[in-house]
Amino acid sequence: MSFKSILGQSQPKKILTNALQNSSIAHAYLFYGQESIGKKKLAIALAKALNCKGPDPLDACDECESCLKIERGVHPDFFFIEPTSTPKSRELAIRIETVRDLQKKLAYLPYEGKTKVVVIDSADLLNHHAASAFLKTLEEPPSSTVLILISSNPHRLLPTLLSRCQGIPFHRLSSSDIRKIIQSKLQEAGESLTELELDFHAQRSQGSVDRALAENFTEMEVLREQLLEILEKVSFDRMDIVFSFAKTWARQTEQLQSMLNEFLVLIRDLALYRSGCGQSDIQNRNLSAKMILVAQTRSLKAWLDRFTAVRNTQTALSGNANAQLFLENMLIEFCEVA
Ligand SMILES: [Zn+2]
Repeated sequence: MSFKSILGQSQPKKILTNALQNSSIAHAYLFYGQESIGKKKLAIALAKALNCKGPDPLDACDECESCLKIERGVHPDFFFIEPTSTPKSRELAIRIETVRDLQKKLAYLPYEGKTKVVVIDSADLLNHHAASAFLKTLEEPPSSTVLILISSNPHRLLPTLLSRCQGIPFHRLSSSDIRKIIQSKLQEAGESLTELELDFHAQRSQGSVDRALAENFTEMEVLREQLLEILEKVSFDRMDIVFSFAKTWARQTEQLQSMLNEFLVLIRDLALYRSGCGQSDIQNRNLSAKMILVAQTRSLKAWLDRFTAVRNTQTALSGNANAQLFLENMLIEFCEVA
């Protein structure tokens, strides 16, 4: 990808484009910000722009031999380092052998391109020895070399490393950028979503593409409908719902917290409908026809109490409590506040 084909992150792109224009590219950058918002993509785009053989000096053409080799990770002057595990240690880390190997390669002039570019993904996982060794490279940067450290946890980096890099902050992607990214990914996969569904997933992504794409859209749709039905029907006359729900979900420990999150989003929407809020505040707009009816079946206080019951259950379950028992209790509380 080139700068122009990366959605969002206009500020980091502007900083780098200006630096390219003024020939003031730093020896070392730190791209930091939450996971999955484009840091790695932009680092690779910068590596391409610095070595591109195309006509635009400020962006990669994405077509020349150099751009294609960097994209495939086979360019001799482009080094991408990420944490790995070893047969001895399953812990992900960037180890000193990797740094020493890199230092040997950086001792030579660029082989094929104009600038050697090193991208260190999750640089906060450089272990202690590796970080000390890498510090020497930062202190005496080899000529024609740009080092790009990437981190979602920059506070874990040694201050001595931090102080030698120009920091570039990356911010959460906007809902509209996330929307465009989801749309293009779905198109690639030959799938599509309605406008409402796209809005829903973009809103829930918290600015992260991975989070937006991790959800299986159809499964989520089915789950939300099931949970809404429980919210509508559960009562002391329907204890069968309580027991079958608790039994089914107690076995699905990995999905338990995300199911409870869905409950929270639904109950929040129902409380909003109950207090007379309009569509614009609602997340589950595709279920609105049914939700408007269900919302009116309880008082606002009852919805808020149910919200609290789910929250308390989440807290209890994060401490390894007996899931079945706590899920039963939660639904019984739903009945009590009905
Ligand atoms: Zn190119």
